[in-house]
Amino acid sequence: MGLSLLQTVKVGAYVMKHRIKGTKRFPLVLMLEPLFRCNLECAGCGKIQYPEETLKKRLSVAECVQAVEESGVPVISIAGGEPLMHPEMPQIVNEYVKRGKFIYLCTNAILLEKRLSEFTPSPYLTFSVHLDGLEARHDHLVCREGVFKTAVAGIRAAKAAGFRVTTNTTVFEGEKPEELHKLFDFLRNDLKTDGMMVSPGYAYQKAPDQEHFLRREKTKELFRQVVKPTAEQVDPARRKKWQFNHSSFFLDFLTGDKEYQCTPWGNPTRNVFGWQKPCYLMSDGYAKSFKELLESTDWDQYGTGKDPRCADCMVHCGYEPTAVLDATASVKNMLKSFKDAVTN
Ligand code: SF4
Ligand code: SF4
Repeated sequence: MGLSLLQTVKVGAYVMKHRIKGTKRFPLVLMLEPLFRCNLECAGCGKIQYPEETLKKRLSVAECVQAVEESGVPVISIAGGEPLMHPEMPQIVNEYVKRGKFIYLCTNAILLEKRLSEFTPSPYLTFSVHLDGLEARHDHLVCREGVFKTAVAGIRAAKAAGFRVTTNTTVFEGEKPEELHKLFDFLRNDLKTDGMMVSPGYAYQKAPDQEHFLRREKTKELFRQVVKPTAEQVDPARRKKWQFNHSSFFLDFLTGDKEYQCTPWGNPTRNVFGWQKPCYLMSDGYAKSFKELLESTDWDQYGTGKDPRCADCMVHCGYEPTAVLDATASVKNMLKSFKDAVTN
C-alpha cells in the first residue's frame, strides 16, 4: 500500500472526530509554501514567476508552526518553490514530527543528498520527489539536463539512510501511457520508493507554457490508460507492483469512474502572503488567519461549472479531500477503501 497504515489510521480517526462533532468544514492537508524561490525554472510552473522582493521572502519556523497549530491539520505538504532551499527546513520538519504530523516534503531533489544528514528518518517524514518521466522526458520538462540523474542519486541516498521516499509526477497533454508505465516500473522495482503520486497539470495563468495542460475529458481518458490499463495493455502482475500514494476513490475520480466537486477548504494554503483564497492553485486574495480564511471565503462560488478557472481542474489538492470524505462517509465505503489500500 502507498499510504502508511499509521497515516491511514490517524487521518481516519481525525476525520471521524470531526464527523461526530458535526464540524462543517475542516482541513485535511496543509499546503505550506515557505518560500517561492527555486533552483529550477520549469516551463509549466506557476510558482516562481514572482518579482525578486517576493522570492527573497520566506516563512519563519514560528510562522510554519503557527500555521499547523491554527488549522489543526494531520498532514502537511511542504511545497514551494524548493523547500530544501529554506535554511531552517530541518527545524520546521522537527517541529512537525514532534507534534505527530505527517509531512510530505516536496522537492526536486537537487539538494536532497547534500542536506540529508540534517534530517532524521521518521514514519512521519516522507520526501516526495518531483519526477515527471524517465531521464530525457524529465530533463526536458524541467528545462535542464542532468536533473533526473541528480534526483535518482538523491532518492537512492535517502532510501539507503532509512527515509520514506515517494514521488510526484505531473501528467501533461501528449504523455504516452507506456512511457509512464516504464517510469512506474523503475520507481517501484529499481528505486524501491514507498508510493507514487500522479496528478494532471493545472494551467496556472502565470506559467510560461500554456499549451500542454490536459482538458477534463482527455484527463479521464489518459488516466484510465495510465493507472488502470487493461490486461492486454499491461500484465496484471506488473501493474500490481505500482503503489499509488492516493486513495482508490481519488484514482476512480481521475479515471472518470466517479464524479466529484472539489473541496478547496480541505487543503488550505499558507504562504508568504498569508492564507490563500480559495486554494493552492488560484489566488483571489489572502486572509490573515485560518479562521478568517474559513469564514471570509465564499466557498460556494468555486468548482467545476461555477468558476471558469475550475473547468478543467482535477488536481489532487482540490479533489483528494472530497475522495477522503467520500471514503469515510459510510461503513461500506470505509471497508472498500481499506480493502483497496491493502490490496493496491
Ligand atoms: S521544481 Fe517545482 S517549484 Fe521549482 S520550478 Fe519546477 S515546478 Fe516550479
Ligand atoms: S476546482 Fe477547486 S482546487 Fe481546482 S482550481 Fe477550482 S477551487 Fe481550486
